Amino acid sequence: AKAQGRNTLCFFDPAMQAAASARSALEGDIRQGLARNEFLLHYQPVVDATGHLLGAEALVRWQHPQRGMVSPADFIPLAEQTGLILPLGRQVLAMACRQLAQWATAPATAVWTLAVNVSAQEFRQPDFVEQVLTALRDAAANPRLLKLELTESLLLHDVEDSILKMQALRTLGVGFSLDDFGTGYSSLSYLKRLPLDQLKIDQSFVRDVLTDPNDATIACTIITLARSLGLDVVAEGVETEGQRAFLLRNGCRQFQGYLFGRPGPAELL
Ligand code: C2E
Ligand code: CA
Ligand code: CA
Ligand code: CA
Repeated sequence: AKAQGRNTLCFFDPAMQAAASARSALEGDIRQGLARNEFLLHYQPVVDATGHLLGAEALVRWQHPQRGMVSPADFIPLAEQTGLILPLGRQVLAMACRQLAQWATAPATAVWTLAVNVSAQEFRQPDFVEQVLTALRDAAANPRLLKLELTESLLLHDVEDSILKMQALRTLGVGFSLDDFGTGYSSLSYLKRLPLDQLKIDQSFVRDVLTDPNDATIACTIITLARSLGLDVVAEGVETEGQRAFLLRNGCRQFQGYLFGRPGPAELL
């Protein structure tokens, strides 16, 4: 049986019906979790060539009363399908901006930047720019320390609209990072037009960078491309000193991965 659009099945299939009811239970749980503030942010360090902390990426977590700590892979896709990503995204932005405002109160943390993941649906909202501004204003956070992580497919869906939204936020100092770079369409002609600050080398190229010559070539090409476009480049998923040394030797100056720290509560950064 094939789904004819959402929640419409052609004919009865017990396995599909079980999956559908598990999905709707999860959907109800997400709704309830939003109302009960069960979502929180973990923070993963981003460091420079000397290991000095530059800031962090915010990664959403769900502290469910029965399910325990749920990882985003298990609820983001459904949240996107059901539109619940919109209220969830607003909560994420609000929490991120409050964290930035808190860092601003201590000299040692006042310069840290915070990267926040934005899903396609959130970005496509006509009032997306407004929503980011509201979150920044409500928390009294510095826009210059906020970085939004977007993906290629999201940006290329409507390039003109993407550019307008990015420019509006950039005027206020908000930065933009292209996440998972190398895994998408790689439309290099568009890349030049998008007002980006940073490319993130996807962890799938970092994992085997020392053993797979193709991955090494791709990683080095991304670093060169970023530098020639005047963009920062961050390698994500760096787990070993060997990977770090290779990327550093080839021009990468910012790193993120288990080698430097796993995502965790802000107090542990
Ligand atoms: P992502 O943006 O590519 O985030 C990086 C993922 O890699 C995170 O998984 C992080 O925990 C993991 N990671 C970091 N360092 C390493 C490493 O050294 N080795 C390995 N193997 N993995 C590493 P996580 O937290 O499970 O998040 C998964 C995805 O969920 C994210 O991928 C992002 O696409 C999405 N996501 C997370 N938080 C949010 C959010 O607040 N909003 C939206 N829309 N999406 C989010
Ligand atoms: Ca990301
Ligand atoms: Ca990524
Ligand atoms: Ca990813």
